[in-house]
Amino acid sequence: MTDHKLQVEAIQRGTVIDHIPQGNGIKIVHRIQKLAPHVRLTVGLNLPSKDMGQKDLVKVDDWLFTEQQAYELALFAPDATINVIDHYDVVNKYKMSLPEHLIGVLTCLNSNCISHNEPVQSHFKVFQHGDHVQLKCHYCERTFSDSLFA
Ligand SMILES: [Zn+2]
Repeated sequence: MTDHKLQVEAIQRGTVIDHIPQGNGIKIVHRIQKLAPHVRLTVGLNLPSKDMGQKDLVKVDDWLFTEQQAYELALFAPDATINVIDHYDVVNKYKMSLPEHLIGVLTCLNSNCISHNEPVQSHFKVFQHGDHVQLKCHYCERTFSDSLFA
């Protein structure tokens, strides 16, 4: 059986990130390459989507991400759908969700921020505006747009 909704070649085991806002697929790829440099990726850009007009899709062979990694990826695709594949079947499907706070994942981009010099975990408050996300540093209170972290 082919799942036409996924619009990509089936994978035996891994993760398919679907319904990524058009243009953000590449950001997701860059992020995954930092998290897991050797995974095999297949990317679909500007695919037709009933709900979104056009969408991006990223397929990752043999890789399941942690909750922390999912939060990090959610910055670039807050409403994406995650399909967990095993033996060519979708065994789990859920919506990506943004956390209210992102702790210990990204480094503050303000070089004067005290979080660089103190033994503290980075800490951002997360704000979503449609497809875009803004992050406010808990320590220096500067606000950064998601694209700065891509
Ligand atoms: Zn800061």
